[in-house]
Amino acid sequence: MYSGKIEGVGPRYCPSIEDKIVRFADKKRHQLFIEPCGLDTEEMYLQGMSSSLPEDVQLAFYRSIPGLEHVEIMRSAYAIEYDCVDPLQMEPTLEFQDIPGLYGAGQFNGSSGYEEAAAQGLVAGINAALKVQGREPMVLDRAGSYIGTLVDDLITKGVTDPYRMMTSRSEYRLVLRQDNADERLTPTGREIGLISDDRWQRFQLKQQQKAEEMIRAEKTVLAPSEALNQLLVSHETSPVTSGVRLADLIRRPELNYDILTPVDGNRPDLPAAVFENVEIEIKYQGYIKRQKADIAEMRRLEERRLPTHVDYRQIVGLRTEAQEKLEKVKPANVGQASRISGVSPADISVLLIWLSRNREPEKQ
Ligand SMILES: Cc1cc2nc3c(=O)[nH]c(=O)nc-3n(C[C@H](O)[C@H](O)[C@H](O)COP(=O)(O)OP(=O)(O)OC[C@H]3O[C@@H](n4cnc5c(N)ncnc54)[C@H](O)[C@@H]3O)c2cc1C
Repeated sequence: MYSGKIEGVGPRYCPSIEDKIVRFADKKRHQLFIEPCGLDTEEMYLQGMSSSLPEDVQLAFYRSIPGLEHVEIMRSAYAIEYDCVDPLQMEPTLEFQDIPGLYGAGQFNGSSGYEEAAAQGLVAGINAALKVQGREPMVLDRAGSYIGTLVDDLITKGVTDPYRMMTSRSEYRLVLRQDNADERLTPTGREIGLISDDRWQRFQLKQQQKAEEMIRAEKTVLAPSEALNQLLVSHETSPVTSGVRLADLIRRPELNYDILTPVDGNRPDLPAAVFENVEIEIKYQGYIKRQKADIAEMRRLEERRLPTHVDYRQIVGLRTEAQEKLEKVKPANVGQASRISGVSPADISVLLIWLSRNREPEKQ
């Protein structure tokens, strides 16, 4: 690849060893994992060592590694290169704008990864079926799921190299949680006919239990007692002198439902998942509110212009991927920067801080 014989750049998230040597030239060492390929084989997988080098070079190279002096190659490493469609041509249903009835998903759309492919397959498959049935399409949005975030990223930002879904790509991470996945997505599943009556009833029961428990936690006032204060002090949190709400105790970082069991006499018998859900909602209420304010603030600042001559490689705190993409696109403002694939909300925050420390160009 480095001789120029192969023009492809290789996948970002599985860089070859020669790629790593060039990109991370300052690193003194590199970790390898030698993994058995199965119970009934002598074959080992050399993880972290993908390569496009010629086979004889690979063998000589591996044998220079202490411990691998006598290694034999059963299957040499190889470089991969593949083509894909431009996902900018697609609707949020993953149907092509110009070719109604044709849907795309997975690597074909420019993503890489098992879950990425499966998630898109689900969206495309559901929508293809809904279309055949003459029903409304299903669109998942960014605030409702990682799948929605993935699809939105693909179709609004496009891809320049294989897209990977990472949690950091979402600006709504405090609401996109495992414990509330059912709350976010089961109603949609029900609407399109993928949730059985039995599952729907169980979901509704859980929601009801959750709502009632939220109210109980807010309304339950625990009187200051010897037992309560002993418990609080033993968990290194301050004792109380007057009545305290159960919810306020749950909010304390040192405490949780489990710990409070001995003093929470009227606790109903509910599944653990309900308590986990309620606990997270109560504990992080303040953070979620703050995140929503942060998002609003960020949107307001999207109009801030970026100077044309910036060397993004010099901005400390930006990830390498973001530096490269910003250098390439040279966005006119922070809003445009935020829509570039590979520039995360965290990078935008770094950019805003940098901007406030440097002279901002005149607003037009
Ligand atoms: C070496 C390697 C390691 C990887 N490791 C990981 C990993 O650890 N974790 C991870 O998440 N991802 C990994 N990936 C990426 C992941 O495997 C792919 O991104 C994912 O499997 C793509 O799924 P897909 O369904 O979009 O495409 P594919 O799985 O490629 O499916 C496409 C299918 O279409 C078939 N097909 C092609 N043309 C036609 C035709 N004309 N007619 C009919 N059928 C056709 C193909 O035979 C194939 O079965 C790895 C990829 C490689 C190459």
